[in-house]
Amino acid sequence: MKSLKFNEKGFTLLEVLIVISLLGVILVLTVPNIATGSSHANDELCKSTIKVIEGALTQYEIVNNTELNESKLGEENIVEYLHKQNFLQNMLKCPSGGEYSLEGGKIVCSEHNDN
Ligand SMILES: [Zn+2]
Repeated sequence: MKSLKFNEKGFTLLEVLIVISLLGVILVLTVPNIATGSSHANDELCKSTIKVIEGALTQYEIVNNTELNESKLGEENIVEYLHKQNFLQNMLKCPSGGEYSLEGGKIVCSEHNDN
């Protein structure tokens, strides 16, 4: 019976070890990049979430012809407040678990406050 060429000879132990060690090197080089890439994605997602909340805030202020500030919110979270007033369809959350608040007319995230 005819067999495939690589079955006749096979790989030597040295060849297998070289391939495994190369895979190890590739893994070590790429895993940290994947980890920071995901945190970068969270930053971007948080920024766009803030934009959505700011849009809802602007709509609220136009419809109610008033500026929303920290004292009007009281104990309520800005996202909760806009959601209850039907200006936000969903209770938006920061992908890194940060809390959104209104500070000086701007939406800030407790985890991404460098924006
Ligand atoms: Zn955030």
